Parts: sequence; structure tokens; C-alpha cells
Amino acid sequence: MQDLSRRRILAAGAVGGAFVASAAASAGTFGNPDHPLEGSVNAKTPSSLTNPGPQNPKLANEFPSFQDPPSTDVDGMPLFWSSFNNAHKRIQNGGWAREVTQADFAISDSVSGVNMRLSVGGVRELHWHQQAEWAVMVSGTCRITVIDGDGRPSIRDVKQGDLWYFPPGLPHSLQGLGPDGAEFVLVFDNGHSSEFNTLMLTDWVAHTPPDVLAQNFNVPADAFKNIPLDALWIFQAEEPGLLAAAQKAAASPQGESDIQFTFSMNDMAPTKTTKGGSVKVIDSRNFPISTTIAAALVTIQPGGLRELHWHPNADEWQYYIKGSARMTVFNTGPKAQTADFRAGDLGYVQKSLGHYVQNTGTTDLVFLEIFKADRFAEVALTQWLACTPPELVARHLNLDPKLITQMSKGRPDILPV
Ligand code: MN
Ligand code: MN
Repeated sequence: MQDLSRRRILAAGAVGGAFVASAAASAGTFGNPDHPLEGSVNAKTPSSLTNPGPQNPKLANEFPSFQDPPSTDVDGMPLFWSSFNNAHKRIQNGGWAREVTQADFAISDSVSGVNMRLSVGGVRELHWHQQAEWAVMVSGTCRITVIDGDGRPSIRDVKQGDLWYFPPGLPHSLQGLGPDGAEFVLVFDNGHSSEFNTLMLTDWVAHTPPDVLAQNFNVPADAFKNIPLDALWIFQAEEPGLLAAAQKAAASPQGESDIQFTFSMNDMAPTKTTKGGSVKVIDSRNFPISTTIAAALVTIQPGGLRELHWHPNADEWQYYIKGSARMTVFNTGPKAQTADFRAGDLGYVQKSLGHYVQNTGTTDLVFLEIFKADRFAEVALTQWLACTPPELVARHLNLDPKLITQMSKGRPDILPV
């Protein structure tokens, strides 16, 4: 890991400019690694750094920033790293699911996440729930069915990169299509929500008297003699036919829903492209039904930096899709902590806490930022300082005011190497 301690930066900077050299005079009160004495750079006794106790090197080595934090990290904070990679899989014929809720990831108060796989023809049974469901397709193709509050159905096929959003209470189903079924990640807008605790068709029918079922559906009571007594949840079925045939068979006299429940991220041009990467923002401004979840798909080139920033309106839940990353979160105290992320991992940053993300790999880093909010919102440190009187900023940081005037008043989002 590159650990540019401030002491080393000051030493290097002193060669290049008198202004930095003058700042070096106050290095003793300049923060880590000088005060407080945290980080391996301060551990002068060799045995301060060894780890002779029990350990699992394969697992430990996945977390270089936990093993040897940057010397600018200070104090501690609740864990903001989690993962689908070590989440228990509930497997049935037709697919599987694993989830990370607040029970597993205490800091994740605003949303919970589910990773689900459906085989070709595999069905997630007809169900509904009290929270909204936002989803991203990560592999394959899937058929979704839903009906809106005015009794109008919508049936769509979605592919890798597509999103869907089901408002609270609208009932739906999911089914994997050929040639290789579907894998997707669901986000519920409530940290307590569980995929294993939803309102299911089979459960309700099994727990309603047959005479009531007969009266309700206007069919003979013995029509229900073979109903499953346990919920199906996920089950294997035949691969469904053409989409148009399914839409025709389910058509309602009320017509098809005019709500767009799906969104194609692949067909969307980036909201912003910079020398370091790109960002696609999807929220209620371009995906109107998604009133409780805002998302940003971030791509960072090797060595690139998602700039120092925070979000004034919501916590950020992150899902890492490709590559490897390192994120540092800043809180009052001061507290600063760094963690490493790879594909399938989850991160979390509480509302308004400062953070930045670095691509630590040799390939593009791709991750999703998810917010329980109707709109994406951000405060960028550079933009804030550039849009504040330079003399005032300079007086805070002992910087040359000329440097402040050179900072971007725009928002680069992602900075190149
Ligand atoms: Mn659902
Ligand atoms: Mn962020």
C-alpha cells in the first residue's frame, strides 16, 4: 500500500516550494503521524507490528487497509464494510438468495440488500411487501410481473444493467429466462427488511378457509385441494413463452399500467464523463417511479479517485461490481478509517460523513452508490472551497490564496491519476 505520511509529503514538498517549507515548521501540530501517534510509521519497536496469535492469512490479506491502516487514519468507527461473498445462501431448486440486512450490518439503517439467482424458468413466487424494492440486473435475463394500484398489470423482460422499482405493496414475481437465467441485487428501502420475510401468495391461500377461498374466487372449494401447505418462495418451473404472449394473456380491461417500472442503465449516456471515469445518476428525475431510491453507477479508471465529498440528504449504501477499491470515511472526533472492497462487497457511509474512494486495481472499478432519497445530492470539498472567498479558505489551511483560485468550481466527481 502507498502510505504517503504527511511527514514524507512535507519533506518532498519542501524541495519544491518555500510556501510548503514554511508550513513544515508547524508539522509538529499538523496531525498524523505526529499527533496522535497512530499508524505503523509510529511503531518503532519491531514487535509492535507483529501478529503472533492465531490468524487466517488468506482472509486477513484481503484487507490490507485493516492490517496496516494509513497513518492518517485515526481512532475507530462502526464497521462500514460488509459483503455478499460471505453471506449464507438459501438454496432451492430454481435458484438461491443471500442477504445483508441490518441484523448483519449494523450501520446499514436505511437499506438492506439481497443477491438472488434464478435458473432458466426459476421463479421467485408471487409476493409483496411493505417496503419498496429497487433492483439491478447483474447477469442474464429475467421476466417481471407487477400490477399497479389501479389494477393495471405490467410485464417486462429485463437484461444485465437494467433496473426495476416496485413501490411498497405492489405485488410482483420474477422468473429467470434463457439461456442462463438471471442474477440480480435487490435493495429494500429499510435496513430491517428481509427477503425471507415477505407476504407470499401460497402462505395466504394456505391459511384461508376453503369456503372463503371458494366464495372469494367464485370457484368450487375442492379446486384448492392440492394447494401447497408451505410457501414455495423459489421454485423451478418451465421457461415461459414469448413476452408478447404473456402480456396478452394477462391483459386487463383497465389497460396496461402507464408506470415505467424498469430502467435501462446501459442505454443511458453518462451523466458526467471526466478524465478519470464516468458517472450515471438514476433517480426520480429520470426514473420517476423511484421516489425512495436514488442511485449512481460510478466507473473509475485505474489510479483514479472519487473526489472527497459527502451527501447532505441520505446515507450511502455501496455495491461493488468490478475491480478493487479503498474507501476512507471521515467523522467527528476526529475519526478516519479506511477499508478495502472487491466485487460483491458492500460499503456504507452515514449521511454527511466525508469520504473518498480510490481504484486500487489495474482495471476499471465499477460500483453503485444507493441512497434512500428521491434525488442524488452531493457536496464536493473542492467545489465548496473554490466557491468560498479564497482569503478565508487560505486563512484556515495556511495555503497560498492563489492555489484556492485555481481549484475547480465545477465538480470533477472522478479525478485521474
Ligand atoms: Mn419483492
Ligand atoms: Mn459518496
